[in-house]
Order: sequence, then structure tokens, then C-alpha cells
Amino acid sequence: MTTLPLVFEAPRRGMPPSHLADLSRAQRREAVAALGLPAFRADQLSRQYFGRLRADPAEMSDLPAGVREQLREALLPPLVTPVTEQTCDGGRTRKTLWSGHDGVRAESVLMGYPDRATVCVSSQVGCGMACPFCATGQGGLRRNLSCAEIVEQVRQAAAAARDGALGEPTRLSNVVFMGMGEPLANYRRVVDAVRRITEPAPDGLGISARGVTVSTVGLVPAINKLAGEGLAVTLAVSLHTPDDELRDTLVPVNSRWKVSEVLSAARRYADATGRRVSIEYALIRDVNDQPWRAEKLGKLLRERLTTRLVHVNLIPLNPTPGSEWDASPLPVQEEFVDRVRAAGVACTVRDTRGREIAAACGQLAADS
Ligand code: SAH
Repeated sequence: MTTLPLVFEAPRRGMPPSHLADLSRAQRREAVAALGLPAFRADQLSRQYFGRLRADPAEMSDLPAGVREQLREALLPPLVTPVTEQTCDGGRTRKTLWSGHDGVRAESVLMGYPDRATVCVSSQVGCGMACPFCATGQGGLRRNLSCAEIVEQVRQAAAAARDGALGEPTRLSNVVFMGMGEPLANYRRVVDAVRRITEPAPDGLGISARGVTVSTVGLVPAINKLAGEGLAVTLAVSLHTPDDELRDTLVPVNSRWKVSEVLSAARRYADATGRRVSIEYALIRDVNDQPWRAEKLGKLLRERLTTRLVHVNLIPLNPTPGSEWDASPLPVQEEFVDRVRAAGVACTVRDTRGREIAAACGQLAADS
């Protein structure tokens, strides 16, 4: 019997100071007024931060020099401080290890493609979900990230892409919550961050909700709640196998919410938003890669979600240190894809960006 990692309540310990990106537009105006400054200063700050992607008041020439320090202290404390940057894939993948105000370490990964640029962000430091094949899951949960810590990862990635970090200056178009942590276990802050990321500037960063993906182990009540938020983000569900017996071990939270309940919640989400749900499936050699599982998966998804509302994303397992598990051989992977497709379900294989710098799916595990 697997015990449920109980991490749904936010440990407040270590949370960072409040930041501009934690606040709605109205709250920013209130915060500026509380400093004895005119409310329009909040709009100036917002245009600088969300529109021009600047976080250093020294660079904000429309603000009087005399108030810049005051605004930095109150609203722009440095929360996400890059420690190291590593690149690979010919400069098209860039991992940032960063430090929080309390010294915790987390990671984000920026990836350039011919048609888009994507940042993979962390939502927690560590993770409490304990999936045995995932590097982040091995160390447990350290703390939640604040809304602003999440938004800051995106702002910094957008500024880096704009400034040519991927080669050509590029506009950041996609944000995936597939870094460290379980986003729906840090629900309120993640939803606030999604709003800030998708609202048009100067309220937010102006990235289309269609370009944002929230990935979850399948926390059913949180999926149901997300369906009612009026956010058209893509939901990704880390299923990894169609049967409860194996899923109980691969995704321990399955002992609480079974495959069937998770798929019902995914269906409700798809119906509420009109968005196709992405089913994540890390293909593990001799563990979940059998042809019968591919058939069962295809049939189950077709029945429960309809072929119109689902897409399977196969992730060749990225081996993590100390694990005996490995990716499936290519012919096995190809047969798996064919069998899912034979059920009428769309299925693609995720590229394995960042493997050599331990920046690929499930490899993020910063020492802290
Ligand atoms: N907690 C969220 C986000 C985590 S990471 C979730 O579980 O969905 C995003 C995806 O990477 C998840 O589908 C996760 O299961 C997968 N993943 C984790 N470790 C992996 C590994 N070693 N190889 C391949 N995929 C992995």
C-alpha cells in the first residue's frame, strides 16, 4: 500500500516578500498609494515590467530617480536570481539554475523551435508527488513558489529570448508548467501566475492562453476547479499507463484518484474549455511499453475523451541517476505509437531537448 504524499496545503515557511507580479492591476495601484506615491506610478511600473520586461528600477527612466529605490524595495525585490546558465542543442536549449530569496534552488528551461519559443517553468521547489522515475520527485517538497517567482521565470525567459539568447531575437510564445513541482498542488499561486502571464500588457505579459500548458499528476478536485476559472490553457495529464495497478506505483497519487476519475475530470475540463487534453506518457522499457497497454490506452481515451478531445504525448524516459529504468527501444516505441493511432487517437513523440545538460523532462533536480 502506497501512502499518499500529503502536500496540498501550502507550507508558508520561506515564502518570499511580496512583488509587483503578485498583484493585480488594482492592487498595484493600492500598493503604490500606500507608499505615498500617485497611482499612475503603478501603471508606469507595470508598463516597464510586463511590457518592456524590465525589473531594475534604475533602467526605468520615466520614474523620478528619487523614488526608484523605494519602489525596488517595496515592489521589485529580486526573487529569481540566476546562478548558472547551461546551453545545448546548438544553443537552442538553455537551462537556468536560479536561487530564491531564501537560497533555495530551482530550474527553468528555455527552448527555441523554428516556429515558437517555449519556457518550461517550475511551480514548486522539489515535489511531493514521489513519482519514482522523476528526479524532482526523489527529494520531496521543499516549498511552493510564489506567484511572482513563477512570473519572474517567464519574464526573464521572455527578455532573454528577445535579447537573442536563442540566436535570433525571438518572442516567447509558450509556457509549460512541466519543470519542478506539481502545479495543481500550488493551485492559487499557479492560477494567479497564469492570469498574469496571459493578460495583455501592461496588466500581464500578453502570452496567449493557447500557448500555456499546465501539467498535472491528476489532482481531480483541482482539475475540476481549474475548469471553472475561465482560462483557456491546455491541460496535460501525466497518465503513464492506462491501468490502476501499475499507475499506483508510477504515480503514487493514483491511490487517491484512479485512472477513471482522472479521465472524467479531464473530460470535464475539455468540455468546459473546448481545449484538447494532452495525455503525457513516459515510455519506460518493459514497464509500461507493452503493445497491449498501447491498445488499452487508445481504446480508453477514445471512449472516455473522444478522439477530438485528446492527444497523446509520448516522452521517451529520461533516465535519472540511480534508477534502473530506461527508455524503450525505438521499434517498441514505434509500435506503441502505431497502436495508439490505430485507435484513432492522435499520438506524437516528444523531442528530448536538454538531455546532455540534465534539462530534459523529469531531470530537473537542483541541490538546495
Ligand atoms: N507534476 C507535473 C509536472 C511534472 S514534469 C506532472 O507530473 O505532470 C512534466 C512531465 O515529465 C510529467 O508528465 C512527468 O511525469 C514527466 N517526467 C518526469 N520524469 C520523467 C523522466 N525521467 N523521463 C520522462 N518524463 C518524465
